[in-house]
Amino acid sequence: MEKELFTVGERIDKFCTVCDEERGHIVTSVTKRGQISRVRCPKCGTIGTFKLASRTPSRPASKTPSPYDRTLTYRAGQSMTHEMFGIGEVTRLVEPRKMEVLFQDRLRCLIHAQGHE
Ligand SMILES: [Zn+2]
Repeated sequence: MEKELFTVGERIDKFCTVCDEERGHIVTSVTKRGQISRVRCPKCGTIGTFKLASRTPSRPASKTPSPYDRTLTYRAGQSMTHEMFGIGEVTRLVEPRKMEVLFQDRLRCLIHAQGHE
């Protein structure tokens, strides 16, 4: 595990003391050696330091969310299943029709609310 390299935007599971639950966090900064130095909780926005020891194994979702549909309008906290990326959770809306989604491996930007053009 020591050789594992991380990049900004990757997902890492750990316990959030603010939310009081185990959830996916986003890597916000890494050291030159590719080790995580800071992570952000997408739910409460808390940025914290990270130790590999605090990492928790990612757990499979208890139920499969609905497939991602770009014509739908999503809100933060909603989950979806993407045909390429798997299960993701909306962390925030970047623009009215663009959102950040935290998938099992990393944070991705997706479009949504495309239904009325
Ligand atoms: Zn949190």
